[in-house]
Amino acid sequence: MPEGDSVFRVATRLRAVLAGQVLTAAELRVPAHATAVLAGRRVLEVVPRGKHLLVRLEGTGRPESAGRSEGGLTLHTHLRMDGRWSVFAPGERWTGGPPAQIRVVLGTGLGTAVGYRLPVVELLRTADEQRAVGHLGPDLLGPDWDRAEAVRRLGADPARPLGEALLDQRNLAGIGNVYANELCYLAGVTPWTPVGELPNLDRLAARAHQLLEANRLRPGHITTGDTRRGRGHWVYDRAGRPCARCGTLVLTAQHGTPPQDRPAYWCPYCQRGPAPPGRGPAPRGRRPHR
Ligand SMILES: [Zn+2]
Repeated sequence: MPEGDSVFRVATRLRAVLAGQVLTAAELRVPAHATAVLAGRRVLEVVPRGKHLLVRLEGTGRPESAGRSEGGLTLHTHLRMDGRWSVFAPGERWTGGPPAQIRVVLGTGLGTAVGYRLPVVELLRTADEQRAVGHLGPDLLGPDWDRAEAVRRLGADPARPLGEALLDQRNLAGIGNVYANELCYLAGVTPWTPVGELPNLDRLAARAHQLLEANRLRPGHITTGDTRRGRGHWVYDRAGRPCARCGTLVLTAQHGTPPQDRPAYWCPYCQRGPAPPGRGPAPRGRRPHR
């Protein structure tokens, strides 16, 4: 599951070979759009919106006729769990997976962007982009990031578990499971803590923005400030290992509603709040040994 900062970096890499260039090759290897002819169109921009990617193509300038869109088009893709975009130099061998897994090919004189295993490939009129991304909350890495609106949306359902609310892209766009877990840790509460019990949602939203901003140009979703291997996260993917702050062993369970559930990680000492049955908080006041 990608985080918004990963998609931001993908957009940067794609922009380098696509933006401003005329497509010399363009294939959408999905049934709905297999016959679309995009070669010859100029790429206007590559835009990340939360975890969605939008490649905007110039219109052909001809008037629209029945069934044919001659105006601006947008290629909308989403990576979900397994999707990946790779960029290759002209003549370079494509190495992102077997050819059968290729869903999109966009080539220009500068290179070729190849989309592997993309579960969402949708071509729509740029004028209709809102259909694909209009449901998203404020975009953490967008030029129009709106913290107050994100706080309003997060707080609208005070009974909802925080981990789940953070993953809901309608509240704020760009948070995946790494940041959902790490933000709960940084707020000192478990992922099952009702949103309404957080004393300061504004600080949480500010922190989410800060973390994604800090990581938008580097890999690893670093939340600890420590870029050394294995030190980048407080609790995420650290089940059974000591919490970096207090030494208590990090626990794991699922959070969210199936089939949208994801692994949760938390430190029972540093994080207060509810946890699945039998996995409650450790008694406070007794400092665990390292
Ligand atoms: Zn701890």
